[in-house]
Amino acid sequence: MRNVDYKRARHFEVDLSEFGNVLEIDKERMVARVEPLVTMGQLSRITVPMNLALAVVSELDDLTIGGLVNGYGIEGSSHIYGLFADTLISLEVVLADGRVVWATKDNEYSDLFYAIPWSQGTLGLLVSAEIKLIPIKEYMKLTYKPVRGNLRELAQAYADTFAPRDGDPAKIPDFVESLIYTPTEGVFMTGMYASKQEAMRKGNVINSIGWWFKPWFYQHAQKALKRGEFVEYIPTREYYHRHTRCLFWEMKLILPFGDQWWFRWLMGWSLPPKISLLKITQGEAIRKYYHDMHVIQDMLLPLHKVADALEFLHEEMEVYPIWLCPHRLFKLPMKTMVYPEPGFENNLRQGDTSYAQMFTDIGVYYAPGPVIRGEVFDGAEAVHRLEDWLIRNHGFQPQYSVSELSEKNFWRMFDAELYEKCRVKYGALGTFMDVVRRGRNPNTTRRWDNRVILGAVDPLSWLSWLLKGGFQ
Ligand SMILES: Cc1cc2nc3c(=O)[nH]c(=O)nc-3n(C[C@H](O)[C@H](O)[C@H](O)COP(=O)(O)OP(=O)(O)OC[C@H]3O[C@@H](n4cnc5c(N)ncnc54)[C@H](O)[C@@H]3O)c2cc1C
Repeated sequence: MRNVDYKRARHFEVDLSEFGNVLEIDKERMVARVEPLVTMGQLSRITVPMNLALAVVSELDDLTIGGLVNGYGIEGSSHIYGLFADTLISLEVVLADGRVVWATKDNEYSDLFYAIPWSQGTLGLLVSAEIKLIPIKEYMKLTYKPVRGNLRELAQAYADTFAPRDGDPAKIPDFVESLIYTPTEGVFMTGMYASKQEAMRKGNVINSIGWWFKPWFYQHAQKALKRGEFVEYIPTREYYHRHTRCLFWEMKLILPFGDQWWFRWLMGWSLPPKISLLKITQGEAIRKYYHDMHVIQDMLLPLHKVADALEFLHEEMEVYPIWLCPHRLFKLPMKTMVYPEPGFENNLRQGDTSYAQMFTDIGVYYAPGPVIRGEVFDGAEAVHRLEDWLIRNHGFQPQYSVSELSEKNFWRMFDAELYEKCRVKYGALGTFMDVVRRGRNPNTTRRWDNRVILGAVDPLSWLSWLLKGGFQ
């Protein structure tokens, strides 16, 4: 993850720690009014028993409204609703001169409303937000489908799970997620909301995956490769936060034995560690290690480029599993930092509509193949090539991850016009720092002992290395 110390280096820190309240759930307007430090887990705990949810419930419990508004957020429902920012109704913002304004899609601050997503808090301080709610049901009926083929065939099968070629809306699932485990195997999941009555019907399998002792979700899903296709009913809130306990599959590296049955039964309740705790306790040495030997990147790119991207990733990094999650990128009244391919509406492809282009988030989190095999791997250079690929293919790199982009290339990837206009108009220039931040100089790259990564495969060698003072 990106080192956020740059934010502290020369600047005055604003304490927003009191802003952690859910202010209102308005069932008539179907809107939640919340403060920025409200987390996804906190909000879903309140709304799900009311059979309501945010249209996009970003997966990890700890993600905050402030971070998702000023950064980005996505979930398995984004093929319908778009990114987290597309579900916002209004934003209450403290500007650089201390004024408090409400920005909406169509009031005098609409430019600010559209400029804030991806701006990383560099236009103002968000103090509350109104966000769209949708009606939901108690269970998610989830179908796990194993798929085999080469990467191009997997990419096509993935698109077919949520973007029916005949365009029939009845075939579009409420939720979509695909996990690619090897270059030739994946499990593609589709979910439909289901009532309690339906779930309880005789013969249906109910799986409460949220219990601390349950297998990690990505490993559970992988069983479909052996078992064949199967269907389960999962309590909706547990489904929303299915990757929280194992941080997708990162926990396998952080705690290699955390997935063993004895650990899950005895200590599974203690997972996951707080992301904020990981960020604070991540010393420079671990940060450097991760930077050089490990990948945490998301790539947002047009759906029709997914096959190319998977082949590129295999060639460059060989990181598995890979997370695939589709999302619409709407054509908005103003061109924002991220935007669909110009002219896509004149050449609609699978999943596109006249008002939105279908994109996909490819999540690449784990140790690359060369690192696992003990071969040389230059993390900084690999990220550099990934960014270059994204720029050439109209893709975007979420800013939470490590970046090697120069300022010039940052603005080749993202559109600067609206952002820079708002920086001037709302007095942010000179008060809030700029959204562009430096990547690390690849020359500082250091070689590290591969045994930390190998711990994922061989926990004993990892433990003995650690006991001998591996991180010193
Ligand atoms: C381990 C990990 C797992 C992730 N998993 C998912 C996932 O499952 N689904 C998903 O959608 N995304 C995921 N992300 C990406 C995440 O959603 C984005 O990084 C998001 O922007 C971060 O949210 P946060 O609450 O951690 O915010 P932070 O990292 O705390 O903040 C993000 C940015 O917003 C700014 N900001 C925060 N609050 C305010 C405010 N009140 N006013 C102004 N600026 C503010 C911060 O200064 C920072 O620049 C993940 C990221 C990580 C590191």
